[in-house]
Amino acid sequence: MSENTPTDKPVNFIRHQINDDLDSGLHSSIQTRFPPEPNGYLHIGHAKSICLNFGLAQDYNGKCNLRFDDTNPAKEDIEFVESIKADVAWLGFEWDGEIQYSSNYFPKFYEYARELINKGLAYVCFLNAEETREYRGTLKEAGKDSPYRETSVEENLALLAKMKDGKFSEGECVLRAKIDMASSFMCMRDPALYRIRFDKHHQTGNEWRIYPMYDFAHCISDAIENVTHSLCTLEFQNNRHLYDWILEHLDDFDKPNRPHQYEFSRLNLEYTVMSKRKLQQLVEDNLVTGWDDPRMPTISGLRRRGYTPASIRDFVDRIGISKVDSMTDMKILEDALRDDLNTVAPRTMGVIDPIRVIIENYPEDQIETLQAPIHPQNESMGKREIFFSRELFIDRADFEEVAPNKKFKRLAIDKEVRLRNAYVINATTFDTDFDGNITTVYATYDADTLGKNPADGRKIKGVIHFVEATKALKAEFRLYDRLFTLENPGKNDHFEQLINPDSLVSTYGVIEPSMANAEPEVAYQFEREGYFCRDNQSPDEIVFNKTVSLRDTWNS
Ligand code: ATP
Ligand code: MG
Repeated sequence: MSENTPTDKPVNFIRHQINDDLDSGLHSSIQTRFPPEPNGYLHIGHAKSICLNFGLAQDYNGKCNLRFDDTNPAKEDIEFVESIKADVAWLGFEWDGEIQYSSNYFPKFYEYARELINKGLAYVCFLNAEETREYRGTLKEAGKDSPYRETSVEENLALLAKMKDGKFSEGECVLRAKIDMASSFMCMRDPALYRIRFDKHHQTGNEWRIYPMYDFAHCISDAIENVTHSLCTLEFQNNRHLYDWILEHLDDFDKPNRPHQYEFSRLNLEYTVMSKRKLQQLVEDNLVTGWDDPRMPTISGLRRRGYTPASIRDFVDRIGISKVDSMTDMKILEDALRDDLNTVAPRTMGVIDPIRVIIENYPEDQIETLQAPIHPQNESMGKREIFFSRELFIDRADFEEVAPNKKFKRLAIDKEVRLRNAYVINATTFDTDFDGNITTVYATYDADTLGKNPADGRKIKGVIHFVEATKALKAEFRLYDRLFTLENPGKNDHFEQLINPDSLVSTYGVIEPSMANAEPEVAYQFEREGYFCRDNQSPDEIVFNKTVSLRDTWNS
């Protein structure tokens, strides 16, 4: 094993490569980058890339920078730039130095394009889109050379300058690399390097009328920033040939320690979609309430839902890095979250579907203050005050007139149960409404059971949660389920029609008064109910988003 290998992480093919490159002395330290295009909000797939790039830099004492790959003014927006910065920081990563923008390199890209023209390796082509397609050929058939391929260097330089100065209309011509129209890699058949766009750019305004293509801009940006390992997803595997070709034909970059591209498989999660274009469609068609809808797989949605940065980082570690395309089970993400929340989430009690309980032998007008641990396994988190009186709420599911079997550990007539953090009670009778729904349960309490078992040795098997009625706060609970009804909705042309109609169910219940000032985005464990966090968009009401259930219930 290399002396450079951080020991606590599994060695995947990227770490092998880095180890080799450090051992051989090709690089003395590593530089990675996270290069989002600011055309949408980041999603959990991007989190994989962020954790990979920033994580490698951390582990190897290298550097990782944040670069906005902003070469397409039509789809990009400063709102997205801001959200991406916030999401990366929230995930717990710090970019090295200033934020970079590909648009900062526009003048350099232009000079490199001229260098290729001067070397006879690029030309301005006036074929229209349809002709270009026809000339390109197919996977089985070689393409044909463009009639503009042999234009002189001088003329090409002049034409590129005219493109830049806005003398041609959008789509009238492009700058193409002169590579090989018979290449088995379609991306090597004289790919476009520059196109004309008249849109206003969010960083450079109307200064530029030509914009570089991804394949041209990306490798050069990497090289300018001294990136050593340029990590991207598998769709770019073939484009690596173009990445290498461009850098090898530019004098500044044709060196052994130039950047190299390595591809890994992208994250696909079940029951959701994972492309900014599709997520944007959900937002624009009002199928969700926004990019940060808690059902969205966006970082901002997960955050609003109560996910922690630690759980997302842990999830990325659990799935690992490979070259095999696969669908990831949502359970892996939720398990990582549960494992984190189980240790960090404060405990509280809330009743989602309340029915009233009257404790007949408890004095009227008396309210008792009790102490309950904030975390039963972690005393250092302290205690909270809860209340007990003659009127309480319990959950409808926790009472049956007759216990259905011996295993029933909740309340029934003549069947005792302990109220969590309080007394043992026994039900005597109940009221129903016209439809037969139970509205009120009457019970008695055993005053000698606070924090101890009954003195006569009788065993109380069940524990249920409750909220004292006079001090209870009303709260909205938003219960979430899978956003889509199909495992892989993105495969369907009309994925937007596959939204799960029960993906959001809103209901009203009650919570402990200690929750009045619960911070948004901080998940609490509502005992026996699941993890919930206060919604960050509803400052004037008490709204709790269900973060995740206590156990995996999807497959049961
Ligand atoms: P999308 O397809 O969702 O629009 P993108 O690839 O166009 O994503 P970029 O902003 O270009 O989005 O991506 C920034 C970085 O994040 C890239 O390096 C990209 O490879 C990586 N990335 C994007 N989606 C995923 C994913 N699902 N899993 C892993 N990495 C991803
Ligand atoms: Mg992209």
